[in-house]
Order: sequence, then structure tokens, then C-alpha cells
Amino acid sequence: MDENNANNFSVEQEIEVNFNNTKCPNCGNNLKFNPETQKLYCEYCDSEIGFEQDSNYQEISLNNAIGVNQTWDSTAKVYICENCNAKIVLSKGETASLCPFCGTAHVISSDELPGVKPNVVVPFMISNSKATDNLKAWAKRKLFAPSDFKKKISPNDLKGVYMPCYTFDSNTYSTYEGRIGVRHTRTVGSGKNRRTETYIVWHHIHGVYEHFFDDVTISASERFTQKQISSLGGYSAQNNKVYEDKFLLGYMAYSSDKAVEPCWNEAKGVIDGNLRRLILSQYHYDVVSYLNVSTTHSNVTYKYVMVPVYIGSYKYGKKMYGFMTNGVTGKTKGKAPVSPWRVLVAVLLGIGLIIGTYFIATASGCLEEASTIAKDAVNLLSNNIII
Ligand SMILES: [Zn+2]
Ligand SMILES: [Zn+2]
Repeated sequence: MDENNANNFSVEQEIEVNFNNTKCPNCGNNLKFNPETQKLYCEYCDSEIGFEQDSNYQEISLNNAIGVNQTWDSTAKVYICENCNAKIVLSKGETASLCPFCGTAHVISSDELPGVKPNVVVPFMISNSKATDNLKAWAKRKLFAPSDFKKKISPNDLKGVYMPCYTFDSNTYSTYEGRIGVRHTRTVGSGKNRRTETYIVWHHIHGVYEHFFDDVTISASERFTQKQISSLGGYSAQNNKVYEDKFLLGYMAYSSDKAVEPCWNEAKGVIDGNLRRLILSQYHYDVVSYLNVSTTHSNVTYKYVMVPVYIGSYKYGKKMYGFMTNGVTGKTKGKAPVSPWRVLVAVLLGIGLIIGTYFIATASGCLEEASTIAKDAVNLLSNNIII
């Protein structure tokens, strides 16, 4: 991170050349990636080993998609959760204990090959304990979540997982034609029949539209939806690094369950939606009768990126509640369990508050004031229940 530290570890950096990247050169234990220092560290002897992060990543031409894909098999291993079928990739030498998706311990080693090696990674930037703090803060805001959930969440409940995404760049050239309408009003009739009516003036539009799309991100996993990516605030390309297995040490990666071609088809759908919006934004209109857009893509490139997410789940009653934290920004989203007791107590308190206010106010003779306060109390209560 800072220069002094980098100098302090110049000796280890020399050693680094000769070891296999996964073991501590000092004591031989497994090394882990530390998001806070962006270095490798050994939790047994506190050794820290810096390494160079390369930001000069390559875009891969979509036409070459099949030729350049490196396989991951020499450095990583696949584990499968027997309970939820999640496929997790770990560095060789590490083992998975709990499944980050369902929380069960039915994770078994598999002979399956890990698939395509990512070419870009967004490294974890916040630690597991920081992510846990964020989760606790998020849970605290959930008024009706059970206290167990608010208090007992520990760093063990969150697992750092790299989720696979494809990001596409494309130069688009579109021709379009359509019909849009603008609403106008006019006064018709006379005397008693005089009235204002609305009518639409239609215009035919056509033209050419060119636009460059950069980093259209499509999830390569069914378990990390487009909606989840955006609810976590997405990932900035500023943090992109050339993928190295070192970033994976101490973390898991989710093996993609979608190939590049179907993801590109999804990206085209996203691009098409954006193009329609961009084309229409050039005009003033109230209604669209139809718009036909025909688009040619050229110089399409992609990156296969691993993005960092802390994933956890909490069992309340018979249901599992999942949550996720952005491994860069710490933004947390998920579903919190609802404690029926908390809801009941809130309702009773609310009723008590309304009755109490009514009696106090009637006693002091200001009935009108009492009913306003009681109404406010009801509003406050119903707002909270909606949350
Ligand atoms: Zn060590
Ligand atoms: Zn599972």
C-alpha cells in the first residue's frame, strides 16, 4: 500500500520468486490475500508478502473467444455443494468447509475442471470483519429483525466469494424508423358544447445512430443476478487488475454456469434497450407507436472478470435469509428475517400509545390535539411495519 511497507518486504519479494505462491516462505502455512493491505499474509507467523498488481489487462476479441480461453485446471480445484449444487473454485491446497450459498457443510471435492480462467479480477478491498460490521449496521436498521440476527452475526457467517461476470465493449451502428406522437389540446364546439379535447400529432422518424458501449456487465452465474449486481452498486472498472491466483488465496470463486455466447446475447438485449432510450431521447414525444432498430456490432471485446462479494445466510425458523456485501464498497443488501414477537410488541406499544394519548389529552381537555397525536402514532407505526 504505502512505499515504506513495500520496502520493508523487499526481502520477501525476492523469496516470492522461488515459492509456489500459496505457502508462507517463512513457516510453510497457507497464505491469504489481505484486502486491507492488498498483500499476501500468513496468519501463523504474521509474514506479509507484497506483489505487483498489474492494471494493464487485455480486452479479448469476441471473435477469438474460443481460441484464447486459458483453462484454470492447473491451479484451481472445484468443490460442489451437495445441498444446493453451487460450484465453488478454490486454489489448490485449500478446502471448503461451509457452502457460502446455503450455509451447510455438504461441500465435496470434485474431479470437474474449473473451466475458463478469468483474465481480470476486482480484488477484495474490505476485510471480512469490516463487511460484518456493515452487515450488522444494515441489520440494526431492520426494526423487526430478531435480536439474534442483529447481535450474533460474526465474520464466520460471511464468506468472501469472487463472482464471475463478463463485461462487453461494442461499437454500434444502428438504423431506425418509427412513429412517435405529441399530445396537443384544442377547444371545440360552442356555447354549452364548448370543451377542450386532447389529440395526438404523429411524426414519422428515421435515421442512423452510432454509439460506443463500454463495459456492459453481465453476470455469468445464475446465483448472482443482474438485479443483485445493481443493488450492490456495481463495480468500477478503475479497480480492474490482471487476474492472478494470488487474489484467490483465502477466498472462493464461483464457477461460472454461463458461457460467453449466451452472456453476449444478454448484453445485446441490454444494449438494445439502451439504444432505444438514446434514440428516443433525441426527440420530443409523449407516446411511441412503434420503433424498429436494426443494429450492427463491430469490434466487440470482452473481459471475464471476477468481482468480490461477501455472501452469507441466516436461518430463522425454517427459512434461510441470504445477504450480500459488495467486497469493494461494503454496500449491503439482502432479506432480513422478521421476528413475529417484535411485530407484536410494536403493535401493542402502538395501541398503548394511541389509547394513552387519547386519555391524557381528554383529561386535559384538548380532544382535537389528542386525535392528531393518535393519528401521527398510527402513521408512524404503519410506516415502520411497511419497512
Ligand atoms: Zn508463516
Ligand atoms: Zn450450498
